[in-house]
This record gives sequence, structure tokens and C-alpha cells, in this order.
Amino acid sequence: MKKLEMLYEGKAKKVYKTDSDDSYIVYYKDDATAGNGAKKGTILDKGIVNNKMSGMLFEMLEKEGVPNHFMELLSDREQLVKAVEIVPLEVIVRNLSAGSFSKRYGVEEGILFDQPIIEFSYKVDELGDPLINDSHILALKLATEEEIEKIKGMALKVNQVLSDFFLTKNLKLVDFKLEFGKHKGEIILADEISPDTCRLWDTETGEKMDKDRFRRDLGGIEEAYQEVMKRLEQ
Ligand code: UDP
Repeated sequence: MKKLEMLYEGKAKKVYKTDSDDSYIVYYKDDATAGNGAKKGTILDKGIVNNKMSGMLFEMLEKEGVPNHFMELLSDREQLVKAVEIVPLEVIVRNLSAGSFSKRYGVEEGILFDQPIIEFSYKVDELGDPLINDSHILALKLATEEEIEKIKGMALKVNQVLSDFFLTKNLKLVDFKLEFGKHKGEIILADEISPDTCRLWDTETGEKMDKDRFRRDLGGIEEAYQEVMKRLEQ
């Protein structure tokens, strides 16, 4: 597959056209941002970890019946994916309180919910990705009722598969963000699943093994990403 011109550059990835209309090449960068771009930095070899980890998890999810955009790894930092049109929603699933949930509702981090929470943000940087509900999504025509239900069902399935898997690696899946896209009219899972987009806490020590180390200046960022990848490969 030939890599053609760049279609889009995001905060952590670049997307290239290919000689097929049906697929894109995604390049994973080491660039890291937090607070909607307010904090910028680099996490050495993060792109390599996230590319590999996303590929591995998307493959697992496909086998578990969650259709997604991943096709194959092409190199350390590149993967071939199905071309999708991204639904402009950040779909967040939470098993325990953390981050913006704790801040918004004034509760401590680490409260285990009786059942997972699904929330949506409207993916528009200039607006700061505001929280949005089903009625808003319908009013803004971002997705249909059927698509919203499909997205929720897939998000819960991803949560179940990944929570169980991470637990076998002594990692608690606290929360994560998904993005979905439309491929040939069908909603499929897209974007990435990595320590950039998940909160992962060590089950023994409670240590944060994800991008919060960068967001909160906790140090040991590279080591945490490498450690997660190492555990996943074992
Ligand atoms: N998240 C993400 N991209 C975003 C916002 C959130 O990947 O633009 C992930 C984040 O890593 C965490 C989960 O979604 O695993 C929930 O994040 P939260 O809403 O608590 O926001 P934050 O505290 O990161 O601002």
C-alpha cells in the first residue's frame, strides 16, 4: 500500500491517504498534549507503544465481535486502517471516578460505580469538547438514535473485554475514551486505545500507568508506557 499525501494532522497522530480509497495509513507521533492543548510535550517512543498496543487491542476486539478500523501494522509507528468518517463524539466509559468526573461532581477519585457510566463529549477543540447528551446529539444531527444505541452497545462491550483483559495484567481499567467512524455506512470503532486514552491503575500499588503521569507531572512517564506494553505482551 502506497502512502500518499497527508490528510490530517492531529495532536498525537497523522493520517495519510493511500492508493486505495478504502484505507488510510495512521502515523503515531511522540507528541503529547493535555488540557485541550494547553500543556504540550513529548513522551519518548510513545508513538511506538500506542501503535503496537492499539493494533493488538483492536485485533482482540475484532475477534470478540467489535468491528473496528484496524487492518495491519506496517511499521513501528504506522498502521493501515479502514477509511472512516469520524463521528464527532468522544465516547467515554468510566468504571471508577477520576479526572473530569471527580472535578465536575466534586467527588474523590477511585469510587467504584455499580455499573459503568457512558458519557459523550462533542469533539470540537474550539469549544473545549463540551459534554453532550443524547437529545443534543440528535438535535445537532451528529448521529441517529440507532447509531447512538449501537455506539453505546459497542462501548460497553469494549469495556467488558478490555477490563477483563487488563485485570489479567494487574491493571485496573478506570476509564477510557473511544471514537467511532462510519465505513461504508456502518458504524465501526476507530481512533486508538492506548495509555493516552485510558486510565490504568496498577491493581497492587494503585500507581497510575497512563497519561495522567504527564498531565499531573508525576514523572516516570516513558517507563509507565513501556511497562504497560511489556505486561500486555507477556
Ligand atoms: N480522554 C481522552 N481524550 C480526551 C479526553 C479524555 O483520551 O480528549 C480519556 C482520558 O485519558 C481518560 C478518559 O478519557 O482515560 C476520561 O477523561 P476525563 O473526562 O476524566 O478527562 P481528563 O481528566 O483527562 O480531562
